[in-house]
Amino acid sequence: MNPFKQHIFLLLAAFLLGGLSLQAQKICAHRGYWKCEEAGNTQNSIASLRAAQQNGFWGSEFDVHLTADDIVVVNHDPSLNGISIRKNTYKRLLRTRLSNGEPIPSLADYLRQGAQSSCMLVLEIKPQKTVHRTLALAKACVEELRTFQLLDSTRVMFISFSFEACRWIAEQLPGFGNQYLEGDKDPETVHAAGIGGIDYHYTVFHRHPDWVARAHALGMDVNAWTVDSKSEMEYLRDLGVDVITTNRPLLLREVLEKQ
Ligand code: MG
Repeated sequence: MNPFKQHIFLLLAAFLLGGLSLQAQKICAHRGYWKCEEAGNTQNSIASLRAAQQNGFWGSEFDVHLTADDIVVVNHDPSLNGISIRKNTYKRLLRTRLSNGEPIPSLADYLRQGAQSSCMLVLEIKPQKTVHRTLALAKACVEELRTFQLLDSTRVMFISFSFEACRWIAEQLPGFGNQYLEGDKDPETVHAAGIGGIDYHYTVFHRHPDWVARAHALGMDVNAWTVDSKSEMEYLRDLGVDVITTNRPLLLREVLEKQ
Protein backbone atom coordinates (compact mmCIF):
# COMPACT_ATOMS: atom_id res chain seq x y z
CA MET A 1 0.00 0.00 0.00
CA ASN A 2 1.46 3.41 -0.92
CA PRO A 3 1.92 5.93 1.95
CA PHE A 4 -1.04 8.10 0.87
CA LYS A 5 -3.44 5.13 0.78
CA GLN A 6 -2.02 3.89 4.07
CA HIS A 7 -2.77 7.26 5.72
CA ILE A 8 -6.34 7.25 4.38
CA PHE A 9 -6.81 3.69 5.62
CA LEU A 10 -5.49 4.56 9.10
CA LEU A 11 -7.68 7.66 9.26
CA LEU A 12 -10.80 5.65 8.37
CA ALA A 13 -9.85 3.04 10.96
CA ALA A 14 -9.53 5.75 13.63
CA PHE A 15 -12.97 7.20 12.79
CA LEU A 16 -14.53 3.74 12.84
CA LEU A 17 -12.94 2.84 16.16
CA GLY A 18 -14.03 6.19 17.62
CA GLY A 19 -17.54 5.74 16.24
CA LEU A 20 -17.86 2.25 17.62
CA SER A 21 -16.74 3.48 21.06
CA LEU A 22 -14.17 0.74 21.31
CA GLN A 23 -11.72 3.14 22.85
CA ALA A 24 -12.91 5.28 25.76
CA GLN A 25 -10.98 8.48 26.30
CA LYS A 26 -9.29 9.19 29.59
CA ILE A 27 -9.92 12.48 31.35
CA CYS A 28 -6.87 14.46 32.43
CA ALA A 29 -7.50 17.54 34.58
CA HIS A 30 -5.17 20.31 33.37
CA ARG A 31 -3.13 21.71 36.29
CA GLY A 32 -5.46 19.80 38.62
CA TYR A 33 -9.19 20.45 38.91
CA TRP A 34 -8.99 24.08 39.83
CA LYS A 35 -12.10 25.79 38.42
CA CYS A 36 -14.00 24.91 41.55
CA GLU A 37 -14.61 26.22 45.03
CA GLU A 38 -12.59 23.46 46.75
CA ALA A 39 -9.40 24.57 44.98
CA GLY A 40 -10.08 28.30 45.39
CA ASN A 41 -9.75 28.50 41.58
CA THR A 42 -6.00 28.04 41.95
CA GLN A 43 -4.24 25.86 39.40
CA ASN A 44 -1.29 23.66 40.36
CA SER A 45 -2.26 23.83 44.03
CA ILE A 46 -2.48 20.86 46.38
CA ALA A 47 -6.21 21.63 46.61
CA SER A 48 -6.55 21.33 42.81
CA LEU A 49 -4.88 17.91 42.87
CA ARG A 50 -7.10 16.82 45.75
CA ALA A 51 -10.22 17.97 43.84
CA ALA A 52 -9.11 15.97 40.76
CA GLN A 53 -8.64 12.91 42.94
CA GLN A 54 -11.98 13.38 44.69
CA ASN A 55 -13.80 13.69 41.36
CA GLY A 56 -12.32 10.43 40.13
CA PHE A 57 -10.65 11.73 36.97
CA TRP A 58 -8.16 9.39 35.32
CA GLY A 59 -5.27 11.85 35.66
CA SER A 60 -4.15 15.20 36.94
CA GLU A 61 -1.53 17.24 35.13
CA PHE A 62 0.96 19.61 36.79
CA ASP A 63 4.10 21.58 35.91
CA VAL A 64 7.46 21.60 37.65
CA HIS A 65 10.47 23.92 37.83
CA LEU A 66 13.79 23.88 39.66
CA THR A 67 14.69 26.55 42.25
CA ALA A 68 18.18 28.09 42.59
CA ASP A 69 18.89 25.58 45.37
CA ASP A 70 17.68 22.59 43.31
CA ILE A 71 14.28 22.04 44.94
CA VAL A 72 11.56 20.91 42.53
CA VAL A 73 8.43 23.05 42.86
CA VAL A 74 5.02 22.89 41.22
CA ASN A 75 4.07 26.00 39.22
CA HIS A 76 3.16 26.76 35.63
CA ASP A 77 5.11 29.96 35.05
CA PRO A 78 8.85 30.40 35.65
CA SER A 79 7.98 32.95 38.36
CA LEU A 80 5.41 33.31 41.12
CA ASN A 81 4.08 36.77 42.00
CA GLY A 82 7.05 38.28 40.17
CA ILE A 83 9.62 36.12 41.98
CA SER A 84 11.77 34.10 39.60
CA ILE A 85 11.88 30.43 40.57
CA ARG A 86 15.27 29.71 39.01
CA LYS A 87 16.93 32.73 40.61
CA ASN A 88 15.56 32.21 44.13
CA THR A 89 15.77 29.61 46.85
CA TYR A 90 12.80 27.54 47.91
CA LYS A 91 12.85 29.32 51.28
CA ARG A 92 12.50 32.70 49.56
CA LEU A 93 9.59 31.41 47.45
CA LEU A 94 7.79 30.30 50.60
CA ARG A 95 7.44 33.97 51.57
CA THR A 96 4.84 34.43 48.85
CA ARG A 97 1.55 32.59 48.41
CA LEU A 98 -0.68 31.10 45.72
CA SER A 99 -4.01 32.91 45.25
CA ASN A 100 -5.79 30.40 47.52
CA GLY A 101 -3.32 31.04 50.34
CA GLU A 102 -1.25 27.86 49.93
CA PRO A 103 2.53 28.10 49.83
CA ILE A 104 4.08 27.06 46.51
CA PRO A 105 4.01 23.25 46.60
CA SER A 106 7.32 21.45 46.51
CA LEU A 107 7.18 18.28 44.43
CA ALA A 108 7.49 16.41 47.73
CA ASP A 109 4.32 18.12 49.03
CA TYR A 110 2.56 17.32 45.80
CA LEU A 111 3.55 13.66 45.80
CA ARG A 112 2.47 13.26 49.41
CA GLN A 113 -1.04 14.20 48.22
CA GLY A 114 -0.56 12.29 44.95
CA ALA A 115 0.04 9.08 46.85
CA GLN A 116 -3.47 9.31 48.36
CA SER A 117 -5.32 7.99 45.30
CA SER A 118 -4.80 6.11 42.06
CA CYS A 119 -5.24 9.27 39.95
CA MET A 120 -2.42 9.27 37.36
CA LEU A 121 0.16 11.98 38.02
CA VAL A 122 0.91 13.64 34.69
CA LEU A 123 4.17 15.42 35.37
CA GLU A 124 5.21 18.16 32.94
CA ILE A 125 8.94 18.83 32.95
CA LYS A 126 9.15 22.53 32.07
CA PRO A 127 12.14 23.52 29.92
CA GLN A 128 14.62 25.42 32.10
CA LYS A 129 17.15 28.07 31.03
CA THR A 130 19.52 25.45 29.65
CA VAL A 131 19.13 21.85 28.55
CA HIS A 132 21.54 20.94 31.34
CA ARG A 133 19.15 22.41 33.94
CA THR A 134 16.14 20.79 32.26
CA LEU A 135 17.80 17.39 32.57
CA ALA A 136 18.78 18.17 36.17
CA LEU A 137 15.08 18.86 36.81
CA ALA A 138 14.06 15.58 35.18
CA LYS A 139 16.60 13.69 37.28
CA ALA A 140 15.45 15.38 40.50
CA CYS A 141 11.83 14.45 39.69
CA VAL A 142 12.75 10.81 39.21
CA GLU A 143 14.62 10.76 42.54
CA GLU A 144 11.69 12.35 44.34
CA LEU A 145 9.23 9.89 42.79
CA ARG A 146 11.44 7.03 43.93
CA THR A 147 11.46 8.42 47.49
CA PHE A 148 7.67 8.42 47.55
CA GLN A 149 7.45 4.97 45.95
CA LEU A 150 5.61 6.51 43.01
CA LEU A 151 8.19 5.60 40.38
CA ASP A 152 5.67 3.28 38.84
CA SER A 153 4.29 3.49 35.29
CA THR A 154 0.74 2.98 36.59
CA ARG A 155 1.05 6.02 38.87
CA VAL A 156 3.07 8.59 36.95
CA MET A 157 3.75 9.63 33.39
CA PHE A 158 5.84 12.41 31.88
CA ILE A 159 5.18 15.14 29.33
CA SER A 160 7.49 17.90 28.09
CA PHE A 161 8.06 20.54 25.42
CA SER A 162 11.73 19.61 25.73
CA PHE A 163 12.57 16.89 23.23
CA GLU A 164 15.80 16.28 25.18
CA ALA A 165 13.86 15.69 28.41
CA CYS A 166 11.52 13.22 26.65
CA ARG A 167 14.52 11.41 25.16
CA TRP A 168 16.17 11.26 28.60
CA ILE A 169 13.01 9.80 30.17
CA ALA A 170 12.78 7.25 27.34
CA GLU A 171 16.33 6.10 28.04
CA GLN A 172 16.04 6.08 31.83
CA LEU A 173 12.47 4.85 32.20
CA PRO A 174 11.46 2.73 29.23
CA GLY A 175 7.87 1.59 29.61
CA PHE A 176 6.69 4.78 31.32
CA GLY A 177 4.17 7.09 29.68
CA ASN A 178 6.26 9.78 28.00
CA GLN A 179 4.72 12.31 25.62
CA TYR A 180 6.22 15.14 23.61
CA LEU A 181 4.21 18.39 23.66
CA GLU A 182 5.48 20.77 21.00
CA GLY A 183 3.44 19.52 18.03
CA ASP A 184 6.21 20.19 15.49
CA LYS A 185 7.16 16.58 14.80
CA ASP A 186 5.20 13.78 13.17
CA PRO A 187 4.63 10.54 15.11
CA GLU A 188 7.31 8.66 13.17
CA THR A 189 9.99 11.21 14.13
CA VAL A 190 9.00 11.09 17.81
CA HIS A 191 8.88 7.30 17.74
CA ALA A 192 12.31 7.09 16.11
CA ALA A 193 13.71 8.98 19.14
CA GLY A 194 12.31 6.26 21.42
CA ILE A 195 9.58 8.52 22.85
CA GLY A 196 6.34 6.64 23.48
CA GLY A 197 3.67 9.26 22.87
CA ILE A 198 2.51 12.64 21.62
CA ASP A 199 0.51 15.21 23.53
CA TYR A 200 -0.29 18.01 21.09
CA HIS A 201 -2.42 21.13 21.05
CA TYR A 202 -5.79 20.18 19.60
CA THR A 203 -5.31 22.40 16.55
CA VAL A 204 -2.41 20.16 15.48
CA PHE A 205 -4.93 17.34 15.04
CA HIS A 206 -7.05 19.55 12.78
CA ARG A 207 -4.04 20.06 10.53
CA HIS A 208 -2.94 16.42 10.81
CA PRO A 209 -5.91 14.21 11.72
CA ASP A 210 -4.01 11.18 10.39
CA TRP A 211 -1.34 11.58 13.08
CA VAL A 212 -3.63 9.88 15.62
CA ALA A 213 -3.89 6.64 13.65
CA ARG A 214 -0.25 6.87 12.54
CA ALA A 215 0.84 7.15 16.19
CA HIS A 216 -1.43 4.25 17.18
CA ALA A 217 -0.01 2.12 14.37
CA LEU A 218 3.40 2.61 16.02
CA GLY A 219 2.03 1.67 19.46
CA MET A 220 2.18 5.26 20.70
CA ASP A 221 -0.26 7.03 23.06
CA VAL A 222 -2.03 10.18 21.92
CA ASN A 223 -3.08 13.00 24.22
CA ALA A 224 -4.51 16.42 23.29
CA TRP A 225 -4.39 19.74 25.19
CA THR A 226 -6.11 21.97 26.32
CA VAL A 227 -9.58 21.06 25.19
CA ASP A 228 -12.28 23.18 26.80
CA SER A 229 -15.11 23.37 24.24
CA LYS A 230 -17.74 20.71 23.73
CA SER A 231 -17.26 20.67 19.95
CA GLU A 232 -13.49 20.10 20.28
CA MET A 233 -14.08 17.37 22.85
CA GLU A 234 -16.45 15.64 20.43
CA TYR A 235 -13.98 16.01 17.53
CA LEU A 236 -11.11 14.44 19.50
CA ARG A 237 -13.35 11.74 20.95
CA ASP A 238 -14.40 10.76 17.43
CA LEU A 239 -10.81 10.91 16.19
CA GLY A 240 -9.92 8.31 18.83
CA VAL A 241 -7.23 10.03 20.91
CA ASP A 242 -6.39 8.20 24.15
CA VAL A 243 -6.41 11.11 26.60
CA ILE A 244 -8.03 14.54 26.55
CA THR A 245 -6.52 17.20 28.79
CA THR A 246 -8.97 19.88 29.88
CA ASN A 247 -9.73 22.69 32.29
CA ARG A 248 -13.37 21.50 32.18
CA PRO A 249 -13.19 17.84 33.20
CA LEU A 250 -16.84 17.64 34.28
CA LEU A 251 -18.00 18.85 30.85
CA LEU A 252 -15.66 16.31 29.21
CA ARG A 253 -17.12 13.55 31.38
CA GLU A 254 -20.62 14.51 30.15
CA VAL A 255 -19.47 14.48 26.52
CA LEU A 256 -17.84 11.07 26.91
CA GLU A 257 -20.80 9.58 28.77
CA LYS A 258 -23.18 10.68 26.01
CA GLN A 259 -21.38 8.88 23.20
MG1 MG B 1 1.34 21.91 31.79
